[in-house]
Amino acid sequence: MEYEIDFLPVGEGDKSGDAICVRYSADDGKTWLVGVIDGGTQETGNKIVEHVRQYYHTSHVDFLICTHPDQDHASGLSVVMDQLTVKKVLLHCPWDYIEQIWDAVNDGRVTKQSLRQKLIDRHPYAYSIYEKASEKKIPIYHPFSDINDHNIPNLNIVGPSSNFYFNQLINFKSITDVTENELQQKGVFQELADVLGQAVNWLAEGWDDEHLVEPEENATSYENNSSVISLFDFDGKNALLTGDAGVPALNNAAEKIEELGQYLQEFSFVQIPHHGSKRNVGPSVLDKLIGSAGLFGQKTKFTAFVSASSGGEPKHPNKRVVNAFIRRGAKVVATQGSTKYHYSSGTPDRGWGKAEPLPFYERIENDD
Ligand SMILES: [Zn+2]
Repeated sequence: MEYEIDFLPVGEGDKSGDAICVRYSADDGKTWLVGVIDGGTQETGNKIVEHVRQYYHTSHVDFLICTHPDQDHASGLSVVMDQLTVKKVLLHCPWDYIEQIWDAVNDGRVTKQSLRQKLIDRHPYAYSIYEKASEKKIPIYHPFSDINDHNIPNLNIVGPSSNFYFNQLINFKSITDVTENELQQKGVFQELADVLGQAVNWLAEGWDDEHLVEPEENATSYENNSSVISLFDFDGKNALLTGDAGVPALNNAAEKIEELGQYLQEFSFVQIPHHGSKRNVGPSVLDKLIGSAGLFGQKTKFTAFVSASSGGEPKHPNKRVVNAFIRRGAKVVATQGSTKYHYSSGTPDRGWGKAEPLPFYERIENDD
């Protein structure tokens, strides 16, 4: 079975984003399915359109998935909706879930109608996809792991479950009105603090001495933990796309993967979540998902891609995270300004050179 996974570059400096195109065929390239998972910013949206036309030779997209409503993932998808013919949309629609969350959020000060309006106003990028889909009568599927009614071949949504999602949604900033500042005071969103105060202070890290630690609970946002996690089964070669999911979301997906009778730790391809942030993965979730550390000098077992802006280090990707994946058998490739391409044999040759993988870093930033 032929398949191609393309990670397009998004952003610069401390602004990373995701834009992923997939194309696969189960009949020796006679027909292809095309999917777009996240669209980066508006500018990236145009690049996706060009990419699909130039390399997939079509203006037809079988499915579009928005992992979560943050701008760096959702905004470019509107451009895709405008310029390509999209057949199915997979999108969480918070404004349609009022009944499901009402008991948890009703404090007597909001009405259902005002809450719905607020969820629309505060998620403009996701809502714009919703509006365009509604206008063009494109069906919208709610990507929950306990539903999976989209009928897209080779694809299972493995996270979030609807229950897990609603538990994130009731804590979204659009609902709680907690500001970034308040979250920082509570120790949430340490990532901002990571970018400031970058006095470079190095630490040695050996193969057997892992400095990646278990992230605090709530180390990444509820919005990130609401990310759609997709599992493609390309005839036994499994690819896992994670959006900006954090530890609880990845654990939730691991459960679902096992429930489906699929094996953990045997993926061919894994997206390192949240642009390689150390707030989203820790040793235990990685041991469970991709396997424990192997011996130094081992053969690589799978490929891991990370969408990280050019100049996004040390946050995106974090060296501890890169090392953690390499130690567990990954060849790690980062976008860092150019499209990176993962493909099976049988896909048309583009004449592209092999992407240079990231090294195992013997020095890491001392950024605890
Ligand atoms: Zn992101």
